Amino acid sequence: MGSKKEGRSITVEPFPAASLGDWRYKIRQNEFYDHFEEVMEGQEHNPSLGMVSSGKRTMGVSVGLQGPLRGVETVALRLWRERLGAQAVDALIKKDEEEFVAGAAYIAYMLQAMIQRGIEVRMQTRAVRLVAEDGRVVGVVVSHQGKEERIRANRGIMLGGGLGDSWRLATGVGGEVYSKIRLPSLTGFDVTEAPGITSNRGRNYEMRARHSMMVNRNGERFASEEAYQGATALLDFDALGEHRFKNLPSYYIFDTNLIEKYSFAGRPPGATEGLDWLAQGSTITELAQNLNIPAAQLEATVANFNEHARAGTGDPDHHRTAHTMGPLEKAPFYGVMAHKEAPDTDPLKGYTCVVTDTNGQVVHYNTKEPIPGLYATTQLQEHQGVLGVGYQAGLHTAQGHAFSLLAAEHAAEKKLV
Ligand SMILES: Cc1cc2nc3c(=O)[nH]c(=O)nc-3n(C[C@H](O)[C@H](O)[C@H](O)COP(=O)(O)OP(=O)(O)OC[C@H]3O[C@@H](n4cnc5c(N)ncnc54)[C@H](O)[C@@H]3O)c2cc1C
Repeated sequence: MGSKKEGRSITVEPFPAASLGDWRYKIRQNEFYDHFEEVMEGQEHNPSLGMVSSGKRTMGVSVGLQGPLRGVETVALRLWRERLGAQAVDALIKKDEEEFVAGAAYIAYMLQAMIQRGIEVRMQTRAVRLVAEDGRVVGVVVSHQGKEERIRANRGIMLGGGLGDSWRLATGVGGEVYSKIRLPSLTGFDVTEAPGITSNRGRNYEMRARHSMMVNRNGERFASEEAYQGATALLDFDALGEHRFKNLPSYYIFDTNLIEKYSFAGRPPGATEGLDWLAQGSTITELAQNLNIPAAQLEATVANFNEHARAGTGDPDHHRTAHTMGPLEKAPFYGVMAHKEAPDTDPLKGYTCVVTDTNGQVVHYNTKEPIPGLYATTQLQEHQGVLGVGYQAGLHTAQGHAFSLLAAEHAAEKKLV
């Protein structure tokens, strides 16, 4: 396939949940409500939301993420029931549950592959320490409901514990670790959350809808809202002026067109009830005053954006594609301060990875030589800053695919594909 300057996004086909049998209930549903597209016919499709759905359904009006309709009694859920009737809403949610999409589908395919190969999956089981003999890792001690068990590993152990504390397993046998400080927004986006929604499941897809933009505290745009540049731009530091991050906090600004055409915060299009958590203004200046950002600059930013949106020629400032842009022109105008993707994490908290070589083998902190029988992958693995700088689409997932295969081939002592 070759590489592309802007990277490649990989999506998965929707996965039929029933084909997993009872294992389907072990997979966490995500909160995209694909099937609601069916009842929004006639509604303008939001071109920037195509990535939300996977495979066969793209370009639809997306419902969900910031307005979960499953399990929580939200304003959005009530509004949908009023619009369609409770039965119809329940039927659509049930239909969605029959199919995993996006990350849930990705995990479902992985699990299915394991089940087909007869690989045992253990739930509620924690790896507590590694077992080494003569410098080689030969097993792991796991704990299940307070009972410890030792499992022998003839080929090796692959650690994949993510960003928790599973790196400690590696240090127990001399594995080298590498700690990073998690700067504000290092890998995250700014998000907004509707009140009552305590989930923290990623970026608002509204943020790349037409008739909306992100601005910084000076009322200036700082990145294309449709892609990942925004996350990296949040790191821009003003070293000579105010000596602080230039684009923090950031604000999401939009107009009534967006509310009318798309699903905002999980609501049916056109629903304006329960939006008093947003700052509003009958003009852009009034909105800026309510958000406490410079009004003249915000007026100028919106005027410039609108000019390019109306001309349909794209965005010379930040290269947002033309078909995802729509002017902010219909009052009332809305805005909200965004906050970090993970508001509950300490912004300066470090996270620790395990250092490996190109085979995914964990190296010893002292000798820098690989520790026989021990591998690490995906988010837990650090291999010479393979991710580079800024936000890389998918972050560790693609890295995990590549290095897991290399590690498995190394452990098996043969090419597997
Ligand atoms: C909101 C959000 C959106 C994202 N969107 C995307 C996207 O669109 N595309 C993409 O490619 N990536 C995305 N990512 C990133 C992607 O989810 C991660 O890179 C990936 O899940 C990391 O995989 P992992 O296996 O290293 O860790 P995890 O997925 O965190 O899995 C680690 C597992 O190990 C278990 N574990 C930890 N310690 C132990 C132990 N001692 N014993 C046993 N088990 C243990 C944990 O319980 C967990 O189940 C997103 C991440 C977030 C948070």
